[in-house]
Amino acid sequence: MILVQPYDLWCMGTIAKAWNELRAEVPDHVSLVAVSKTKPNEAVVEAYGAGARMFGENRVQELVGKHENLTHHDSGRTDEFEGLEWHQIGTLQRNKVKYIAPFVHLIHAVDQPSLLDEINKRAASHGRKQNVLLQVHIAEEQSKFGFASAELPQLLEQLDGDRWPNVEALGLMGMATFTSDEAQVAREFSGLRKDFDAHGRQRNWTTLSMGMSGDWRIAVAEGSTMVRIGSSIFGQR
Ligand SMILES: *Cc1c(COP(=O)(O)O)cnc(C)c1O
Repeated sequence: MILVQPYDLWCMGTIAKAWNELRAEVPDHVSLVAVSKTKPNEAVVEAYGAGARMFGENRVQELVGKHENLTHHDSGRTDEFEGLEWHQIGTLQRNKVKYIAPFVHLIHAVDQPSLLDEINKRAASHGRKQNVLLQVHIAEEQSKFGFASAELPQLLEQLDGDRWPNVEALGLMGMATFTSDEAQVAREFSGLRKDFDAHGRQRNWTTLSMGMSGDWRIAVAEGSTMVRIGSSIFGQR
């Protein structure tokens, strides 16, 4: 007879083990964002228990729901999830910014000046300075979002000025082409790293977010400081 077990039983230990193995393999200077999208609260709790503190989601509704369930300000569970940071990692629509503006730690995929306008406005209304990364389009695929590398100088001039006083840019983010051609992936990450160095040195940027389950080793070799890993920790979606 086959017993169907609830998620929290069959995955118990698997997530913590995957996290620990990955954390041991990813160099210490590289931050590891656990991408918990589509996975239940229990999966986040297990990864948190193993030491994960940064969690990435790409859908606003899911992010807000998990934040409400798992944040330490919830009455009766003070400090239970101390230090947990929520990261918005995917494409973000302007009309959804308001839902995450009170709490989101880092928005990874800013790809429009108009999105910066909205983030700035919402951050100001909460008395916050919102950390963001600028997404740069490095992949061959048209479907991936981001600024062109050539657009960065003008955009950064505006960021340095006073157009978005409640926005703090910490660096860049990019997604490589989905391909088995590792040389191509390395070239794309390397190009992003060059932009990061060229623009980030005088601005004291800290964060170059590149690398996922399938390509994080290449990304780290090319200078990533933050990898976003989902399926290698939580299993296939
Ligand atoms: C889903 C997602 C990831 C993680 O993908 P995996 O291949 O499961 O590691 C990373 N970054 C973004 C933007 C994503 O949407």
